[in-house]
Parts: sequence; C-alpha cells; structure tokens
Amino acid sequence: MKITRLFMDADIPLDDETQYICSKLKLTPEMVSDSQAVYDAVNGAKDPISAAKTLLYITRNRGAVIRECPGTSHYTCCDYTILHTGTFCTMDCSYCILQAYFHPPVLQYFYGLDSFVSPLDHTFSQNKIFRIGTGEYTDSLIWEKISQGPRFLVEKFAKQSNSLLELKTKTINVASLLELDHNGKTVLAWSVNTPEVIGSEEKGTAGLASRLETAKRCEAKGYKLAFHFDPLVIYPGCEEDYKKVVHSIFSHVRPDNVVWISIGSFRFMPQLKSVIENRFPSSTIPYGEFILGLDNKMRYFKPLRIHLYKILIDTIREYAPNVVLYFCMEDEEVWEKCMGYFSKKEGELGHLLDKSAVAHCKLNPSFL
Ligand code: SF4
Repeated sequence: MKITRLFMDADIPLDDETQYICSKLKLTPEMVSDSQAVYDAVNGAKDPISAAKTLLYITRNRGAVIRECPGTSHYTCCDYTILHTGTFCTMDCSYCILQAYFHPPVLQYFYGLDSFVSPLDHTFSQNKIFRIGTGEYTDSLIWEKISQGPRFLVEKFAKQSNSLLELKTKTINVASLLELDHNGKTVLAWSVNTPEVIGSEEKGTAGLASRLETAKRCEAKGYKLAFHFDPLVIYPGCEEDYKKVVHSIFSHVRPDNVVWISIGSFRFMPQLKSVIENRFPSSTIPYGEFILGLDNKMRYFKPLRIHLYKILIDTIREYAPNVVLYFCMEDEEVWEKCMGYFSKKEGELGHLLDKSAVAHCKLNPSFL
C-alpha cells in the first residue's frame, strides 16, 4: 500500500526526524490539533482498514515506551519485551490480528527518537537479559523505508550488553541497516510461510525467496537471524510445502546463525472472522476445523496442530539439531507431545531464550 496522506500533531516540530519522513513520502503533513481528524478520515472511508494503511499519523506515544508482552492467558509465555515504536502496517495479511485490535486502526509513527533514550538506558542498566522487539503492533521494517527509527535502534543497541533487539518483518527493507556497526546485538527476524499462503493471504509482503535472500545478505553482514513459522495454515499438502520452506531456509543461511525459530498455528479472535470474510472474500483461511481456546481465540483442532508441528519440528531438527525452537502460545500437552518437554516453572522458557540470546549476541552471561 502506498501512503497518500500524512497527518502530524500540530505541536510536533518539523525537525530532522519528521522532515526525513516527509521527504521520503514526498508529502506535506496536514497539521492536526488531536487525533479526531485522523479517525474521521479513516472511519469515513468505505473500507476503513484499507484506508488506514494509506494514512500515516505522526504523533506521540502517550503510554509506556517499553512494556512486557501481554502474552495470552493459559498458554506458555516467553517473557518478551515490547518497544512501542508505532502501530499498524502498510502490508495487508488476511489473518492480521491488528485489523480487529485497534478501533479504528491507525498507522501511527511515534515521534521522538530521543524519547527512547531514557527508557532504553534504564533497561540497559539492569543486571538482567532482555529480548526486545518492535514487531508486535506493527511490522518492524516497514518503517525502514520512511524513517530513521530502525537505524537509530540498531546503533543504540550496539552500545550495551544486556539486551537483544529483534526486528521482525515480512519485508526486505534492510538497505539502511546493512552497513551499520550493529555489534551483534540486533537479530533480523522473518516470519515465513509457504509460497501458497504468502500468495493467497499475505498481500503486499515480500515473497519467500526474497525474504530468504535478504536474510542471507544480512547474515553476510554479521547479523544474527530468527524465523517465525507463524501462522501455520493447514491446507491439503501443507506438510510437504512447510518441509520445503525449512529446506529453503537452510539452503540460504547457516543454522548456527539462527538464534531461535518460533512456531505457532493460525488463531484468531472470533470477531476477526467477519473482517476476513468482508475484506478477503476469496480467502479460505477462516474455514478450517477450529475450536475455541482457553484464551477465547479460535485455534485448529489440537490433533491437527500436533500433526503439523511434529512434521515441521522433525524437519527443522534434520537441518538444525541445536537451534532453539519454541511455540508461541501453546499448552502443556502440545509441548510435551511435540517437543518432548514442557517448562513447568515460570520463566523457564524465557531463560532458555535468554541463553540463546547470550550465546549468539555477545550479551553478558553474568546477567543470566
Ligand atoms: S505483515 Fe504483520 S502487521 Fe503487517 S499486515 Fe501482515 S500480519 Fe499484519
């Protein structure tokens, strides 16, 4: 999607940070006294979600810059930390939870790279390992093309020793990051899926081959990598297709440069179904065999999930026996049956991931 309108809070100055965005977008900002004008522009459109992907709002983050990932009740949590740099996305995946998460959805860039400095310095001063990501409420690297945000963060994280920065994306927007002195502290992570799912459900994203070629270029520049098989989508023949994705990953990058791989299957809040039906009438994604999970999200019937997880895990293990694998939001039975263990103690999964972060990203092991 192309951004065609730019809004900006009137009290935000036209300085280097905002002028950079204006020049990249080739747009003059419409100054607004509050967010109402932006909401009106989004809500007044025939398809507010599509409209929201074409309007960028430069505003301030009124909440915490750094917060713990809320996780989901009843499923194992990985103790992740979120750095809140913006919201929503210019790409258009049918299953994207953000469509139903914000009311209305607004593509927001949080102004003030300086405002990250103090909360980050506070985090960096603690005797504890942090895994911090910007890709929970947005795609981390849609911003690379239009802002200095990703570059700023990579350089900031390079100068400390207790935190890993994970930039999670479905783009190939890494040009401004390749030559940076990242000091091994940034992990570039790609969500991956089969070409079939990417073609039918991930509109506007880079193809699998492009994502993996880009991962290879980043690896050559010393970046560590991560991959997220999320959401796995069940369809006839998906098992063979997911095996091929694993093969493609490891024909591009070395297993020892992969910090972790997460696995999660398609799940959705019930209210997302009508959004998908209205916006993506040809998508078949909401019509699988689903049951309501303990967190009130619809998930594939458990035996179907376990079947696909086992195949995927076995395949990954063939190529990368030592890479850390974890489930995003799965329960004890699934962990036991697929991984052969379950971290009963609170914080155990987080600790496993912290250890991998320390080992791959030159973090201080005494903080483990
Ligand atoms: S890339 Fe991520 S954030 Fe963007 S539309 Fe797809 S699922 Fe949503």
